[in-house]
Amino acid sequence: MLRLVLLGRPGAGKGTQGRYISKKFGVPRLVMSDLLREEVHKGTELGKEIKRYMVEGKLVPDKIVYQVLRKRLIEVKEGFILDGFPRNLNQAEWLDKFTQENNAELTAVLYFNVDEIAVLRRIMGRLMCKKCGRSYNIFYDPPPDVRKCECGGTLYQREDDHYEKILKRLDVFNEETKPLIDYYAKKNLLVTIDANKGIEAVKDDVSSILDSLLRR
Ligand SMILES: [Zn+2]
Repeated sequence: MLRLVLLGRPGAGKGTQGRYISKKFGVPRLVMSDLLREEVHKGTELGKEIKRYMVEGKLVPDKIVYQVLRKRLIEVKEGFILDGFPRNLNQAEWLDKFTQENNAELTAVLYFNVDEIAVLRRIMGRLMCKKCGRSYNIFYDPPPDVRKCECGGTLYQREDDHYEKILKRLDVFNEETKPLIDYYAKKNLLVTIDANKGIEAVKDDVSSILDSLLRR
């Protein structure tokens, strides 16, 4: 059984690789931001509280994050792929405690290592279609026309994908999340994957790493 944590800078391809692992190995993917949004949609007391933080643009406190995650972790029986959690050392320690208490120790922590320059190319190059939501990348996957999607919709760049915004997200990663790399390396759980390669090459690497972990 696979119990994985995915780490990586924004734009490292964690989402794509997580979906790939989930499909190929039949492991549910728990994306922390999705779990919080689902709770809001359900309209529970907890969801209402989360919504208040989101509306004010504040970070949801760890205590609430733990409650939401604990519920899902207890439900899943086929292992899990965690994306967007843990984000800092406190959260990592909470996860350690949870996995120990529930006999659900982590199999590995996959760190998708990508250069900051590559991140800028991936994120700043992204163009979205207003009509169908499809995304392009002007460097790797250019649209047929710089102004229009295949469907005829207008293309635009998301606010979050602007240079200054990306730098901010990279700084948050370097300050809060990067220490987790040392933390998991000390526990012999860290597997570093070169995520500067193309998506398909990274998938091949991920697949062979997970195959060998499952054989252990
Ligand atoms: Zn379109």
